Amino acid sequence: MANVLLQVSHLSKSYGARRAVDDVSFNVHAGQTVGLIGPNGAGKSTTVGMIVGLLRADAGGIALNGEAITSGPCAVKRQIGFVPQDLALYEDLPARDNLLLFAALYGIKGGEAKRRCDEVLDLVQLHDRAGDKPAAFSGGMKRRLNIAAALMHDPALLILDEPTVGVDPQSRNAIFATLERLKGMGRSLIYTSHYMEEVERLADHIVIIDHGKVLADESPAALHRRLPAQAALRIELAQAAPATWIDAIARLPGVSAASTEGTQLDVLLGDGGAALGVMGYLQAQGAEALHFSTARTKLEDIFLNLTGRSLRD
Ligand code: ADP
Repeated sequence: MANVLLQVSHLSKSYGARRAVDDVSFNVHAGQTVGLIGPNGAGKSTTVGMIVGLLRADAGGIALNGEAITSGPCAVKRQIGFVPQDLALYEDLPARDNLLLFAALYGIKGGEAKRRCDEVLDLVQLHDRAGDKPAAFSGGMKRRLNIAAALMHDPALLILDEPTVGVDPQSRNAIFATLERLKGMGRSLIYTSHYMEEVERLADHIVIIDHGKVLADESPAALHRRLPAQAALRIELAQAAPATWIDAIARLPGVSAASTEGTQLDVLLGDGGAALGVMGYLQAQGAEALHFSTARTKLEDIFLNLTGRSLRD
């Protein structure tokens, strides 16, 4: 395809007898944010480790703009920025000096390094803390500085490995704000997480990985359509619904399932419009509804649907 930025093809890697990554393929298009999601141990870090050239693949290939990426030195790696899970900062060096050090590693010096430093500090909103040492930063601020460091050499693709692990909700929002700004600037991102709501918020495309294998590779909307139910309807009745009603409701058009507990009636809907049919049926039976609510089913349920397990224990 014309605008494929990163091409990951049939990537595999084992640690001893354990196959950590098993024939993984996916693409990242220019300007796209790809969410790589899976439970702990799924193979996400190993996959991104191979993409950034830190780990050697047993088999398969990776290409950026058509140029192969290998675990040895290669110029094309310069087009990638990597934010690892483990923070890579000098705690006792002011934030700005940390960034200048990263710039120097990429051969960026003098006025150009200072200009980049200002740009990335603005982007992660740490400008007012540029002279402070990371030792005095919160976990979330350190992570933002780490993102800034990975952006110093102006890479085409930024890869973040679980950037919100161990940060408080406020910092998490600040990290998201930074990533949304990057997205707005047309950057390409790969974001690994075991939180579907994070990936859903940010990603244009989702790759689900489990036991080293790709289970799904599509847009959030396409994944949502694969859920057996699109919405859930909960009705509180004045009296418990008899079993005959539950059976009849479960057979109504657009209804995936119906169940009851006490006076509460739960109906899973294949499409939101089916709710009216359910209400009409209850009205025809003379039922008295005290309260009702609807909710869209969560994309997180897709993992349960694909594997029979939930994404997190
Ligand atoms: P994730 O990032 O999705 O949590 P990882 O890529 O870290 O998953 O791990 C995938 C699998 O490979 C896991 O079973 C993990 O225990 C194993 N693994 C990862 N790194 C190593 C290593 N250095 N040595 C041995 N096994 C490893």
